[in-house]
Amino acid sequence: MNNFENFGLSKKMNNALADMKFVKPTPIQIKAIPIVLNGSDILGSAQTGTGKTAAFCIPIIEMLSKDEKSIALIMMPTRELARQVIDVINQLTNNGDKIKSACLIGGEALRIQIRQLKDHPRIIVGTPGRINDHLENKKIDLNNCTYLVLDETDRMLDMGFGKQIDKIFKYLPIKKQILLFSATLPDKIIELSKKYLHEPERVAIKSDNVLLTNIDHNILNIDHNKKYKELLNQLSTREGSVLIFTKTKFGTQRMAKKLCEDGFKADALNGNLNQNKRDRVMSDFRFKKFKVLVATDIASRGLDIDHIQHVINYDLPQVAEDYIHRIGRTGRAGSSGSTICFVSSEEQNIWDEIYYLLHPDTAKKPKKTNSRAVRKRSRESLRQKKPTRSFSKSNGPRRRNNSIIGKDTQKKSEGKKKSNQKKHSKNTVSRSTKTDTGKKEPYSKTNSRSASKKPFFSKAKGRSKVSRHSSR
Ligand code: ADP
Ligand code: MG
Repeated sequence: MNNFENFGLSKKMNNALADMKFVKPTPIQIKAIPIVLNGSDILGSAQTGTGKTAAFCIPIIEMLSKDEKSIALIMMPTRELARQVIDVINQLTNNGDKIKSACLIGGEALRIQIRQLKDHPRIIVGTPGRINDHLENKKIDLNNCTYLVLDETDRMLDMGFGKQIDKIFKYLPIKKQILLFSATLPDKIIELSKKYLHEPERVAIKSDNVLLTNIDHNILNIDHNKKYKELLNQLSTREGSVLIFTKTKFGTQRMAKKLCEDGFKADALNGNLNQNKRDRVMSDFRFKKFKVLVATDIASRGLDIDHIQHVINYDLPQVAEDYIHRIGRTGRAGSSGSTICFVSSEEQNIWDEIYYLLHPDTAKKPKKTNSRAVRKRSRESLRQKKPTRSFSKSNGPRRRNNSIIGKDTQKKSEGKKKSNQKKHSKNTVSRSTKTDTGKKEPYSKTNSRSASKKPFFSKAKGRSKVSRHSSR
């Protein structure tokens, strides 16, 4: 099955796929589309960037166009993902009698969404919280909802949407087809599937098959307070759009402002911004109005912007799995990409977990320390001890407001760094990375030892080869 035409799809759908320049189905599409068309539930696990959106949208649109009564509900964790799915649906339905859709996401006026709902949409896409609001206000009727998609389910549960999902199930008819997709399948997902899915077909796409293998991976051990300087260094050698991940919402704002002051066109995306601002930032980034997007993990799942050339993990994620999703923002659909990870001594534990996740066969199993609950507790205790800080004064002004251009509310530095951090700075080791010209170059003068080091990962034979980094 190496051609969409072999699925027996309608002419309209084949035309739409041709317009989208989709010639060959991806592995998850090859497996999932016939199962959905056959009427079975799916429990699917596949890495990011494997083409899951079309894997569920194509067959659902096909089924909806044959049965005029039924409707589909598609849920995902973030507003940006919902908008992206709506875009794909619009492209796939462009050639025929338009199947109406509605996008129900938080942060947007209810009345706009109520207007969309009055129009009897056949596909409802949204985040669980807002879908529930409309259900409770009796603005949606899901009696004819015979298709339900749970996309990025592990993330939805991580974000605490489990209860909302349970509530939504109460509004759905007993007979329905459920497609559950998740990057990982921890116990809680298996439980969810046992509770709601009916004899689901397991669809698993191994990481060897994903489109991520064309990403150049690099790691840099670096003292926390040297990160910003190194970031400038990295940015000046990289061409194309860059996505930087930082830990805190305020941190994204501060960093974007500082980068603008340092001559890079940058903006920030985080969950504190209102929906209009989030939409504007995403659209400006999509249309290359600025080069560097600084974001929290809100951007780590599913965002599909094909010109992101580099992902920089300025701070490591709080949960190891998010690393895979972050780096999946580059190298979309087989294009090339590169990623670099700044690891400070304080982040060693979480790096060990990421390393283990990437290399379960060869790496030593680390002690599990990064559950969200543990991290939340430690953050809260830190907050009680001292006010928020993200990066030091030398790294840029601290801001509390959301506006990068707005009034500066810089705070004073919180004091000295821990002594072990100083110790670590002496041991800073970097690894060389490929520049855009393909040459190996050290990261910075202070890290000149790196010139002799091999990249942490190599692209050999399309799989990541990893060697332990030396400061462990
Ligand atoms: P996932 O949801 O698995 O992270 P997406 O559905 O966002 O992945 O797809 C990743 C990228 O691959 C998108 O840019 C999408 O347009 C592209 N894509 C998906 N399926 C195909 C295909 N069959 N042929 C070419 N490109 C595809
Ligand atoms: Mg997706």
